[in-house]
Amino acid sequence: MAPPPLQTAIVTGAGGFVGSTLVRSLREAHVRVVGIDSLERGFADSLDGDVPLVHGDVTHPDTVARALAQVGGRADAVFHLAALIQVGESVQQPARYLHANVVGTEAVAAACAQARVPALVLASSAAVLASDQGDRATLDETARIGPESPYGESKRRAEQVLAAHSAQTGLASVALRFFNVSGAHCGCAERHKPETHLIPLAIRSALGEVPPLRVFGTDWPTPDGTCLRDYVHMRDVVASLRAAAFWAIAASAGSHRVFHVGSGVGTSVRQVIGAVERVLGRPVPYIESPRRPGDIAALVADVGRLRAELGVHPACDLDQMVRDAWMAWLAQAGAHATVRGNRSSIDP
Ligand code: UDP
Repeated sequence: MAPPPLQTAIVTGAGGFVGSTLVRSLREAHVRVVGIDSLERGFADSLDGDVPLVHGDVTHPDTVARALAQVGGRADAVFHLAALIQVGESVQQPARYLHANVVGTEAVAAACAQARVPALVLASSAAVLASDQGDRATLDETARIGPESPYGESKRRAEQVLAAHSAQTGLASVALRFFNVSGAHCGCAERHKPETHLIPLAIRSALGEVPPLRVFGTDWPTPDGTCLRDYVHMRDVVASLRAAAFWAIAASAGSHRVFHVGSGVGTSVRQVIGAVERVLGRPVPYIESPRRPGDIAALVADVGRLRAELGVHPACDLDQMVRDAWMAWLAQAGAHATVRGNRSSIDP
């Protein structure tokens, strides 16, 4: 019998929301995992205590090699998830974003090519796509590229770096363009430093943990005037990452492929607020605010290629996503309160 193709993996950005969930999911499947995180934005306590973690910045050429050294110099796949990810912040600090996300990808790809890693999977983003797509309601992988923000530009260049490395070195690689990663899986709750994402902020606003939510723009050319996004459950995101690694391992040398990872359904900011109110049974206080720089009206995936080639069939149950996000957040808040010897006062 052939050995299972994914026995050892390296995950950059292991302390992040997607990274920590992927690490736990891989370990549950008995994959040996080494994490990498600078801990500038990630959380060491998002990882189980026995996960080997290389504390380092991926823009440094030696960081991936240090992780590989912990697994005898070889891994079946590297998942490159470490990045700066905030659209609004990227508008303020474009050079910082380009450095972290492009130079970081260059260094990771070079280390993978050098070590002859069979599969490199990059977390890219729907932010690489242009806002003007004619009358296309959903966007497949042929959609026009044209980032509206420095964040999107950094991911566009990261994809180019990956494709060039594959062509030049034979590295098999995949770029997964994530739409809005949501929900929770394997008990890992969404948290960011600082938190800027809609669903966690709406939940915390409803609970009175943060000030009222600001709705960024109510004059967009969408049915209810607020932005349309494609919220995809973390369970499907992790399934896509794992399937992408298997795809690259099985692909011929130098293969490179892009996949859109969404649910295929567009949901407005007002619809998200409605779901949070339904699930929590409390109002979400919000203030209608100006548009956020770098945002665009609508971003919704066509997931045909994801289904056909990776065998991932994403669900699109918004209430379930909110419920899973809330439950994971409550569990994490309870765990932290217990650590402090002070049980959470939050009532689920
Ligand atoms: N959004 C909002 N208020 C917030 C955070 C986000 O109105 O406090 C909107 C944002 O303009 C976008 C959608 O919610 O249309 C999703 O934003 P998020 O930051 O969660 O993800 P992004 O789409 O930027 O990747």
